[in-house]
Amino acid sequence: MQWIVWLLTALSSPPPGPTIVDAPIAWSAERERLTLEYRQRHSDPDAKDLTITPHAIVLHYTGGDSAKSTRAYFDNVRIEAARKDLAKAGAVNVSSHFLVDRDGTIYRLQPETRFARHCIGLNHVAIGIENVGTNEAALTDAQVAADAALVRDLAARYPITHLLGHSEVMKFRDDPLYIERDPTYKNDKPDPGPHFMARVRERVADLKLRSL
Ligand SMILES: [Zn+2]
Repeated sequence: MQWIVWLLTALSSPPPGPTIVDAPIAWSAERERLTLEYRQRHSDPDAKDLTITPHAIVLHYTGGDSAKSTRAYFDNVRIEAARKDLAKAGAVNVSSHFLVDRDGTIYRLQPETRFARHCIGLNHVAIGIENVGTNEAALTDAQVAADAALVRDLAARYPITHLLGHSEVMKFRDDPLYIERDPTYKNDKPDPGPHFMARVRERVADLKLRSL
């Protein structure tokens, strides 16, 4: 009988998900319009709105050292002209769905099912998680744990099949999930790095998410 008690306990009290702090980026009709333009141009010419069904999670690092400055940067509606290649590919600014601070605090910047510009080729199916850090070595144990908890939480709520690092995405271009209508639009990213990815993957190995 003991197992029945165990089973009932397990069913009635699911493990709590990670604490997520809502910190929505600025949103406007203009940003909505520019994001839809980007989506139509790069992946879904017939898209009427920004809703996505997430199948992939892409991890990043910000290249900066503060959550506050990244969050403020994402508030800009338009990408700055100095980021020439990106500006040429579309006016809307980059953003992500989540931002994980160095202490592991998880900020939710926008709905997981809204198209966001964070990764060439996968934005139409991918949730983006940014980690505050200037490089891989700067990322913390708390961020590894937070990313893993967030991946687990998202995989329980959405039909997620893939977990990728931003640096791995270009090697992923033959996969059917990858759609970029402009074949010349590519980039080479180092984030978040192989060791960080390995550590996160180790913690969610049981989910059997695909990589490359
Ligand atoms: Zn990135």
